[in-house]
Amino acid sequence: MTRSVAFFGLGHMGAPMSFNLVKAGFQVKGYDPVAELLHNAGEHGVEKCATPHQAIVDTDFIVSMLPHDRAVESLYLDEEKLLEQISARTLIIDCSTISAKSSKRLLAAARDKRLHAIEAPVSGGVAGAVAATLSFMCGGNHEDVERAREILQHMGANVFHAGPAGSGQTAKICNNMLLAIHMIGTAEALQLGVDNGLDPKVLSEIMSKSSGANWSLQKYNPYPGVMAEVPASKEYTGGFMVKLMCKDLGLAQQAASDSRSYTPLGSLARNLYGLHDLAGNQELDFSSIQRLFQKS
Ligand code: NAD
Repeated sequence: MTRSVAFFGLGHMGAPMSFNLVKAGFQVKGYDPVAELLHNAGEHGVEKCATPHQAIVDTDFIVSMLPHDRAVESLYLDEEKLLEQISARTLIIDCSTISAKSSKRLLAAARDKRLHAIEAPVSGGVAGAVAATLSFMCGGNHEDVERAREILQHMGANVFHAGPAGSGQTAKICNNMLLAIHMIGTAEALQLGVDNGLDPKVLSEIMSKSSGANWSLQKYNPYPGVMAEVPASKEYTGGFMVKLMCKDLGLAQQAASDSRSYTPLGSLARNLYGLHDLAGNQELDFSSIQRLFQKS
């Protein structure tokens, strides 16, 4: 029997994720308030829904891929109040990166209504969403996470169960805080080399085989021209926007404040990305932090 999914949020990530579910044979009913995105999804086999309520009728799964706390809470709890109408057989999987606090609120409200919900924020970016190689960092009840594998396996390569509600979001922001720190460090080192006469390709090759090796350098090099297929070689278009990195770094600082943890490099990364965002780079890929170090 064909399994059905209601998919909310057909943006940079949600669109390719939903298309992979269509390819895997799921009946996918999609909703996004942006008409153009909904139309585009329709071209890829997603059934277009005029309202969120239309999408959830008689569905096995709900997947949401939304920009922030407000969008998630508005959809499920405060405005659309979807939780009021979701059936007990439906499993809700929220893949948005939001605060652990907001995610806990959603999962607790679902539990109070005897509904099944997990959080499953992702790592891997748009390329991972297209290639179905995302990593899912799940938080919630073990049985629900196991059940989610049926659908997550068609959108990603790794499904981790981080722990109870909120744990997946915490894992996600720890990862992204580290990602921001090594991206900034990589850009800084590459610029130092270039300013002192080195070819960024040669320097990248040397550091990739030395103790400075890291993901930003080897898979997502921020210096234009070093790697052909990364945003740095496409004027920093596509990829993971600076404004989303700023959001994640803000969530990390909020978590650090709540747990009284010291994150000096995370705090510096947030400030550097915040200034980069303010300088008009919010829509560029986060590897554009390279420009902060380049002499004009
Ligand atoms: P995006 O802005 O491209 O897409 C979000 C979509 O949600 C938009 O199209 C918006 O119209 C839609 N939306 C807003 N409210 C809605 C509602 N009530 N119902 C249905 N749709 C609604 O953002 P994105 O890059 O796809 O990111 C989505 C989430 O994934 C964010 O939480 C982001 O932090 C996370 N994320 C993004 C990346 C990346 O590389 N872009 C990587 C990992 C995680």
